[in-house]
Amino acid sequence: MRSWDREVVIALLLGFLITIIGSLTGLFLPLWLIATTVILMWQFYETNRFNKWLAGGAKGKYPPKAKGIWEELYHQVYLLKKREKRQKKKLGKIIDQFRKSTDALPDAAIVLGKHDEIEWVNTAAKQIFGLKQTDRGQRLPNLIRFPAFVNYLNEGNFNESIVINSPMIPQVTLFIHIIKYGGGLRLLLAQDISQLRKMEQIRKDFVANVSHELRTPLTVLKGYLETVQDTEQTLSPVSVYSLKLMQEQTARMQHLVDDLLLLSKLETQPKKSQCVDIPNLLAVIGQEGDRLQKTGRIQMTIDSRYGVMGDELELHSAFANLLTNALKYSADDSPVLIQWRQTGQHLVLSVTDRGEGIPDLEIPRITERFYRINVKRSHVVPGTGLGLAIVKHVLLRHDATLHIESNLGKGSTFSCLFPLARKCINDNNTSH
Ligand code: ADP
Repeated sequence: MRSWDREVVIALLLGFLITIIGSLTGLFLPLWLIATTVILMWQFYETNRFNKWLAGGAKGKYPPKAKGIWEELYHQVYLLKKREKRQKKKLGKIIDQFRKSTDALPDAAIVLGKHDEIEWVNTAAKQIFGLKQTDRGQRLPNLIRFPAFVNYLNEGNFNESIVINSPMIPQVTLFIHIIKYGGGLRLLLAQDISQLRKMEQIRKDFVANVSHELRTPLTVLKGYLETVQDTEQTLSPVSVYSLKLMQEQTARMQHLVDDLLLLSKLETQPKKSQCVDIPNLLAVIGQEGDRLQKTGRIQMTIDSRYGVMGDELELHSAFANLLTNALKYSADDSPVLIQWRQTGQHLVLSVTDRGEGIPDLEIPRITERFYRINVKRSHVVPGTGLGLAIVKHVLLRHDATLHIESNLGKGSTFSCLFPLARKCINDNNTSH
């Protein structure tokens, strides 16, 4: 029988007994009064004891001894407490494991609250950012005051990442990324990319040095080839053919070295900025192109007299590469259109040809270094595979983007989109 049922049975029996004795002795009411008072006092005593036990945190290895329904109540609360204790222990273990694993991470991790206040940091974050346990609750931008970092936090565009130096060890370069998650919280991850940067620098230096060192022997070789060709001695047909081949390959190699040097310059040299007169620059490039092809294939449409802020030599080489490609990859008699215009948000230079076009799948790849479509044909059409990589780098340095549209067999349009913020009017060219 359950305690509550037993309690009811006892109460009923007691009531029955009092009624019988009360009826026999004529003391019905006093007996009832005494019995109820005793029961009430007992209940009051037990309630008080139970309350004190609960208030004390229901501690103890076993619940206190009690009778009837109270024994049941003590037992139930005791079980609840035991379950809670077990769950707490389990949770504590999970948190402990999480803490240990995040502390073992080489990357710094910081949990930020709604107002950029620090909620939690791992060990790497303490070392990399010089944070202390007492910094909890402080706003991170008050502790890491690099303007670029503070702007990054304020702007809230966390699809982007940012690279800064460690405030503790300036030689350490950090790649910072923020991930938003529930309740307005954000996780900041900082990865030490110093080693990667160093290797990248070694690669750049190596390419620049090799290209530079190759320049002199190539010039000497070219000179000797020309001398041999210019000799008055009659050469055998095999020698003439070999000399021609050697000259072609030397020229190709020289072109490659020049492109590599230009690329490494684009990667390392500080940017220059002046108002570049684009209509004028295009006129020069157009003349060069016409001279190159000895035909009047180039058509020019200049719809804007604006220039852009940037580096003239770099823009010259980017636009010339686009024009050379358009001429190279289309028939010798098909037109190539160069257009300079302003749209709602950009100043646009586009080069359109009616050539062979580019397959959709290849478009994202053609700006990679050394990437050339159709290896077989590449031997026929000379090139280094570096032209569009140069274009991409130059545009990047001018906050511009390259947009490629192409239809196989119909032709391609390469557009350079400059932000209007770069628009300028050249001193010699004020009409528009
Ligand atoms: P390359 O020296 O080979 O011209 P680029 O980097 O300039 O190197 O171009 C990469 C590849 O993209 C080229 O090999 C060519 O296949 C393709 N390509 C570039 N421009 C055009 C174009 N206007 N029409 C068709 N294909 C093109």
